[in-house]
This record gives sequence, C-alpha cells and structure tokens, in this order.
Amino acid sequence: MIDLRSDTVTKPSEAMKAFMLNAEVGDDVFGEDPTLKQLEEKVAAMFGAEAGLFCPSGTMTNQIAIKAHTQPLDEIICDKLSHIYNYETGGWAFHSGVSIRLTEGINGKMTVPMIEELVLPDFDWLPNSKMVCLENTVNKGGGSVYMIDEMKSISDFCREKNLIIHLDGARIFNALAVLNKQAIDLAGIFDSISICISKGLGAPVGSVLVGKKEFIKKSRKIRKVMGGGMRQSGILAAACLYALDNNVKRLHQDHERANKIAEALKRCSGVKKVLPVETNIVIFEVEDSAKTAEAFAKHQIRVQPFSRTLVRMVTHLDFSEEMLEKVLVTLEKVLATS
Ligand SMILES: *Cc1c(COP(=O)(O)O)cnc(C)c1O
Repeated sequence: MIDLRSDTVTKPSEAMKAFMLNAEVGDDVFGEDPTLKQLEEKVAAMFGAEAGLFCPSGTMTNQIAIKAHTQPLDEIICDKLSHIYNYETGGWAFHSGVSIRLTEGINGKMTVPMIEELVLPDFDWLPNSKMVCLENTVNKGGGSVYMIDEMKSISDFCREKNLIIHLDGARIFNALAVLNKQAIDLAGIFDSISICISKGLGAPVGSVLVGKKEFIKKSRKIRKVMGGGMRQSGILAAACLYALDNNVKRLHQDHERANKIAEALKRCSGVKKVLPVETNIVIFEVEDSAKTAEAFAKHQIRVQPFSRTLVRMVTHLDFSEEMLEKVLVTLEKVLATS
C-alpha cells in the first residue's frame, strides 16, 4: 500500500527509534525530564520565543493557546478552511466558551481587509474580538503559504487593534522551506505558535507551543487540567529532536514530488481542477465521483476524500521516488478519461 492520506502516517525510522531508546528521561510533571526540557528550549530558541511547551497533539497546542489567550464572551477570528474551525471538534466552544467568526480567504489565506471587516465594535450585544488565528501552511487550502511580509502586515494590524495573533504552524517548516527562510525570521510576529513534529518531520507524536514565559506558564497549567501532563515523555521528545535535526532539510523533496503529481493530474481529462501546489499537499477535483478513494484503493494507493469529488494527496518522508513512479502511472490509469 502507498499511503498518501496524510503526512501523519509516517513511522519512526530505525535510527529515530534508537535515538529514542537512548534518551535520558525523568518525570516531567515534576519538571525533571532533561530531554523534554531540551526540546522545549530548542524549539523556543529556534523561533525566537521565550519558552516552549511539549504537547501530544497540534489540536492540544492550538486549544491551549485559545484557552490561555481568551475568556468567555471573547471571539476568535479564523478562516473558513482552518484546522481550528474544521477539525478540532469545536474545541473553542468546549474548552474556552468563545465564539468564532470566519474569513473566506484565498485558499484559506486571510488578508488585513478581510480581518478588519470582522473586528467588532465595543457594544454590549456583541462579543469581544480578541484573537486572530492564522494557519501556515493552510492544510485545506492545498498547503498554501503565507509570505513573511503577509504575516507581518496581519500582525501589525492585530497589534494596532489590540488583538492577540496566534499561528497554527502545524506545517510551518514546509512553509519556511518554500520561502527559503528560517524559524527565527518569525520572531516577534506572533504571540504564540503551534508547531507539529508528527507531520512532515516524521516523529510519532508531538507538538510544541511557543510564546512568552508567562503565557507558557499558564499553558502548562491548562495542559495539566486537560490531562496532558506526561511523565517520562523525554522518550517522545527525543523523536522530535531527531526529527528536527534530520528531517527538516529534506522537505523540499516532498514538495517536488507533490508538484510532479499535480503536473500529471493536470494532464488527466478526468480531473476538473487542481489547487495550486506550493508544498506537499495536492488537492484536486475529479469529474466522476466514482474515481476517488475507492478507485485508488484498487491500485493499492490510499488517498483522503475531502468531499464527493475532492481528493487530497500528501507527500511525506515515507513516500519514495519508486512510489511516486507508481502513483504517476496509476493517475493516468484512473483519471485519463472522464
Ligand atoms: C494536523 C494539523 C493540526 C494538529 O493535528 P493533530 O492531529 O491534533 O496533531 C493542526 N493544524 C493543522 C493545520 C494541521 O494540519
């Protein structure tokens, strides 16, 4: 089976597992896991933030950020395609008692005028506009990338309006690879950033939330009440350290392979539309709803159906050049005719 459903399907390599086994660990609820501390400090330093917090998922890092930055009667602003809105079980209401207002961005990307339109005046009958959440890359937008300047101008606007700005950077390293920038180039733009190491970077588990010291202190408490205080979690942090040291440099390979898939799709008459491919995500629309996940499964390829006719393929660490060749041939077989 070739699994293109998501870049979350990667499995830890032998070298990563060996690194995990040798990690020095301790009880992190007592603040005594040296490997975990090393990861939190490393990621914070990479992004020019004061502190970091390791969590089991990107959903948790996003939800903790919302909880820490808001109170009930507040409202957050996200895009209609955002992960926070679509795939986090409505957590903003469940955990934080806040409402949500949505931009209709360009492939999930917000602009200052779009946000400006949604910021509410201070009336009794309206919630308080409190926080803006960007996503880079935008998963449901086909892996679209915000440039540094675009993020900066939204941040400047938020600071001027006294709004908190959070980045869901589940795939921020994919964005940085395309932009040819470093994590440190994001320093000062956001109040908090959530970074996933279990996506394209290939760790089995792990996300890190970074921000100011006081914010991380509060977030640690919220993580505990959510049941996310973990004991010898250095074994997981070791996988993340390994991933950051070994798997960031190769992300452009995933992007090149995604591009080849997109080019092949564009030549297929059974394909109605391919979203612009900037990173490792390919989203396309087929003419015939019978030619999505099941049709590919017959050829031993797993893809993610997004709707009746929308399909997502994501390239990743465990998707090789040989697998790419097989996928390109199969696309032709399945979709060459409408
Ligand atoms: C995957 C993802 C997350 C976090 O997902 P988890 O499965 O909870 O780790 C958050 N935001 C985006 C954009 C994602 O793609």
